[in-house]
Amino acid sequence: AKMDGRNLYHFYLPEMNAKAKQRLILEQALRIAVEDDEFNLFYQPQVDLVSGKIVGFEALLRWQHDDIGIVAPSTFVPVLEETGLIVPIGQWVFATSSRHRRKWSQLLPHNCSLSVNLSARQFADRTLVQQIKRVLEQNKLPPHQLEIELTESMLMQDTEYTQSVLRSLKALGLKLAIDDFGTGYSSLAYLKQFSLDTLKIDKQFIDHLTTSEKDAAIATSIIQLAHNLGLQVIAEGVETKEQVLMLRNLGCDMVQGYYFGRPISAWDVAKLPKAMLLH
Ligand code: C2E
Ligand code: CA
Ligand code: CA
Ligand code: CA
Repeated sequence: AKMDGRNLYHFYLPEMNAKAKQRLILEQALRIAVEDDEFNLFYQPQVDLVSGKIVGFEALLRWQHDDIGIVAPSTFVPVLEETGLIVPIGQWVFATSSRHRRKWSQLLPHNCSLSVNLSARQFADRTLVQQIKRVLEQNKLPPHQLEIELTESMLMQDTEYTQSVLRSLKALGLKLAIDDFGTGYSSLAYLKQFSLDTLKIDKQFIDHLTTSEKDAAIATSIIQLAHNLGLQVIAEGVETKEQVLMLRNLGCDMVQGYYFGRPISAWDVAKLPKAMLLH
């Protein structure tokens, strides 16, 4: 039964207040975090299903506050996006991950890529391409080592601006991936419009892959679609051996997930055994 307005007021206002307060505390702490260098990047391996070797890493933002402790990205990234703080922090992510990739140039195979998440706010920033270009130059990074993870919603606006940004990023030599594929506004038109490299199958289609016929059908179709378009495909959130075996049978190229490894610190990347990396 629906509550009337009065009940809503009585029962939900205090809670909303507490939430709003918490949100404000979070926002203030995040503003300071940018200046105080409280952010960190972790790296999750991406594993090739044929060779079983690591062929890339995704950079994932971590935040540890002295009092609040570790805050999950699902809590603070939306706040960064709403406040626009994701723009300077996103720049920091590009600079830091590129510096790390540069440091690993002797350690990681030349083709081992680094994926960086891009938020819509960053995409709308007119200086984005210039910034990325500068970061690549500063770190003397081969551009193909950097992959940008875009979301479907960014590509839904087939505007001249979207076209020109994607064309410029491709022209720099970067790779482009679609994150959380199949969960956004579903139009496939952008797949023919833009020149992409990788589709990432969202974890929600992987979770019940081995028990749900529907999820299996969706995953199978995404893999076929990617390959028919000449794209690589990677499955996200792979946690079990059964999922790995099934994805390999389906011809999926790569997997990322707790089964092969959780996100690890830059320090731990440098300590990975060579056998996991070299073909
Ligand atoms: P995402 O880009 O879809 O990243 C994948 C998320 O799934 C990561 O969560 C990762 O730790 C988690 N994951 C990977 N494998 C598994 C698995 O096998 N099981 C489970 N349960 N989870 C797995 P994380 O690090 O908490 O990040 C959450 C989201 O926050 C990301 O989702 C992304 O949207 C956003 N995010 C993280 N770092 C950045 C960043 O630097 N910039 C931007 N714009 N967004 C970021
Ligand atoms: Ca991602
Ligand atoms: Ca994802
Ligand atoms: Ca996601």
